[in-house]
Amino acid sequence: MTDKHKGGCHCGRVRYEVEADIEEVNACNCSLCRKRGYLLAFVPRSQFTLLSGENDQTDYQFNKKVVHHLFCSTCGVSSFGTGSGDFAETVAINVRCLDDIDLDALTVKAVDGKSL
Ligand SMILES: [Zn+2]
Repeated sequence: MTDKHKGGCHCGRVRYEVEADIEEVNACNCSLCRKRGYLLAFVPRSQFTLLSGENDQTDYQFNKKVVHHLFCSTCGVSSFGTGSGDFAETVAINVRCLDDIDLDALTVKAVDGKSL
């Protein structure tokens, strides 16, 4: 049995469900992750369902523009991101935005995104 989590932005417009056992998360030191404070878990797109908010998000892209760093246009919270190209089948979940997860129980892995 795989865990099911629900999550979303702060105001509730963006809501999603993800099927994944999340034990390890990535804390990246790149210019954006630092500022947004992301704790990321990467899951296949097939395990991710957007329940609401498809048209309530703004897309932010920088650098090589392979990742859509989506955020809610109303509350500004970035609860997940999607990829393109080689990363089209991956969704990056901001684990901080999951309703039911114990952040202190997660293993946080430092990722040196700054050097990529
Ligand atoms: Zn919102």
